[in-house]
Amino acid sequence: MRKYVIMGVQGSGKGTQGQLLARELDLVHISVGDIFRWNVRNHTKMGAQVKRIMAAGELVGDDLVESVVRHRLQQHDWNYGFVIDGFPRNGAQAEFFMESYDLDAVIHLELPDQEVRRRVLSRRLCPSCGMDYNLIADRPEQEGRCDICGHELVTRADDTPEALEARLRDYHEKTRPVLELFQRKEVVHDVDARPPVDEVQAAIRKTLALPPYIPALPA
Ligand code: AMP
Repeated sequence: MRKYVIMGVQGSGKGTQGQLLARELDLVHISVGDIFRWNVRNHTKMGAQVKRIMAAGELVGDDLVESVVRHRLQQHDWNYGFVIDGFPRNGAQAEFFMESYDLDAVIHLELPDQEVRRRVLSRRLCPSCGMDYNLIADRPEQEGRCDICGHELVTRADDTPEALEARLRDYHEKTRPVLELFQRKEVVHDVDARPPVDEVQAAIRKTLALPPYIPALPA
């Protein structure tokens, strides 16, 4: 059983790296941000509650976040463990989490703010199949269209300069202290998030003493 948390500022690749790690180790990948986005897209009551907060780049209230995480982990579909990304994001969430679950490792993806701004503002998303693109490093073949399903690409509602600055501020003020708390427990593995995806994944595997990562060959 492996229980990992993946932390890093927005745009550091938490989602991508978390999914890659989960896929090969048969872990369940849990992204609190994805759960909220799903609710917004599907116009649920919870979606209505979080839509404005997310679009402004602010943090959703701890009670709601904790109930989402608790509910997700209570499904117990994670026989081999889980990778949770985007949580905990402040001291209260970290305490809630540590009371209920012991952790094997925290993967901390490090990325300078300047690079965060460059990446996030060029990020595009397919609202239909969820595929991520980046206009700098990972352009779609046809401009503005998803390579997989052909749907028109959109910008995430919270990838605006104003929302990004709010999230960066929150990250430094509220999320950094969480990292320090985990560092005291000696479970944090710092990984440089600047290299290409495969290299970052290989570095994660190495620092966690997992079998080496063999990237898929291009088709
Ligand atoms: P992410 O995809 O992790 O960047 O999350 C997108 C948005 O969802 C954040 O900007 C917050 O508004 C909300 N969110 C996700 N995770 C949390 C969390 N642990 N605590 C509070 N808000 C969160």
